[in-house]
Amino acid sequence: MACQVKGTAFITGSGSGIGKATAISFAQNGIESMALVDLNLPLLERTRDELRALFPKIKVEAFQANVADETSVENAVRETVEHFGGIDIGINCAGISGAPTPTDRMTLAEWQKVIDVNQTGVWLCQRALIRQMLQQESRGGREGRGVILNVSSMFGVSGPPGPFDIPHYTAAKHAVVGLTKMDAKAYSRQGIRINAICPGFVDTPIIKQQIESGSMNAVFEMTPVGRPAQVEEISDAILFLSSPMSSYMCGAAMVVDGGFTV
Ligand code: NAP
Repeated sequence: MACQVKGTAFITGSGSGIGKATAISFAQNGIESMALVDLNLPLLERTRDELRALFPKIKVEAFQANVADETSVENAVRETVEHFGGIDIGINCAGISGAPTPTDRMTLAEWQKVIDVNQTGVWLCQRALIRQMLQQESRGGREGRGVILNVSSMFGVSGPPGPFDIPHYTAAKHAVVGLTKMDAKAYSRQGIRINAICPGFVDTPIIKQQIESGSMNAVFEMTPVGRPAQVEEISDAILFLSSPMSSYMCGAAMVVDGGFTV
């Protein structure tokens, strides 16, 4: 079996970084249509135009949405279904890092912002995707009704080392793994397959500044492979988790971190 995806994908955070690379991996490996979803309109439109130019046979639409806003998420899902007739694969990738601050100095507003996007945002998207997929016919075999993949972090399964004071981010990413396990069990018999990926450090805009300033060098030293992931190393793992190749994976939190948490 080849690592191929079919039908329509809905990808949040696809204006940039891992989400954008996932859209490209999907386009190279069989997807027929894609809804790109992001809050950042200039990035979103640029990515849509790049994809349309690179892959003229694939239908690509862009929907600006805030994953932390219930109505915005529901509108994005509804518009995707109106355009393409359904959603076969949902990738919940939108996220923010939040300023590093230890708990004793963190304000409630700083905490809440990261929780709203990285935790509640994933739940809102997952709920809207599940509601939609439950209305769709199963494709049968190893494909089922639909696939949902949540982008957590290696800090969704472990605590960050010393210099990373990110309690909000760590809590939210652990919650994403918990939500993945809960709903994977709840909806598996109805043909919806849900997993999470837990990347280590990835060379994307979210950490570009720290990489360029050299402040991450010590952390890369601590990583067995000695470097951050190239974004395609994560998007290709997402491709696998979204394809029927991974049909027996249910509620997994797949760590792709160059050995950092080993
Ligand atoms: P990125 O390049 O910054 O991409 C994230 C995208 O999500 C951006 O376009 C961002 O827009 C958008 N976004 C932010 N808040 C949003 C919201 N409320 N609604 C909709 N879209 C929103 O970051 P990335 O590195 O690809 O990260 C993608 C995911 O991977 C995140 O969940 C992140 O936590 C996770 N992750 C990243 C790493 C890493 O080292 N890069 C490691 C582990 C996990 P703006 O540009 O306007 O913010």
